[in-house]
Amino acid sequence: MECGNCGTEVSSEDDFCPSCGAQFSSSATGDTSSRVSGEPESRFDIGEKGYLGIGGISGVIAFGFLPPLFGVVSIFCGVQLWRHHDKKLGGGIILFGAVALIVGMYVGAQTMQ
Ligand SMILES: [Zn+2]
Repeated sequence: MECGNCGTEVSSEDDFCPSCGAQFSSSATGDTSSRVSGEPESRFDIGEKGYLGIGGISGVIAFGFLPPLFGVVSIFCGVQLWRHHDKKLGGGIILFGAVALIVGMYVGAQTMQ
C-alpha cells in the first residue's frame, strides 16, 4: 500500500511510514484520512524562519556568551533546517553554530586566564 502522506510504498503491516513518519493503522483502512492528514513532526517544527532566526541569533550570542549552550542550540536549529526545510540554509547555520561554538569557547578560555 501507499502512504497517504508522502506516497511512499510501505508494508501493510507497518504502523508508521518509514519515510515521513505518518501514523496509520492497517486495521482501520476505512478511516485513514484524519490519521495521515497532519504532519507528525509539526508540533516540533517551528518553521524555516523560526529555525533560521533562533539558529542565527543563538550563533551570534554563542560568540560571547555560553558557547556550549547557544552554539549547540544554533547547530540543532541548523540540523532541523537542513532536515526539514532548506539544506543550504541549514548547512550554513550548522557551520555558523560550529564556528561560534569553537570561537566562543576559545575566547572564553582566553579571557578567563
Ligand atoms: Zn509517508
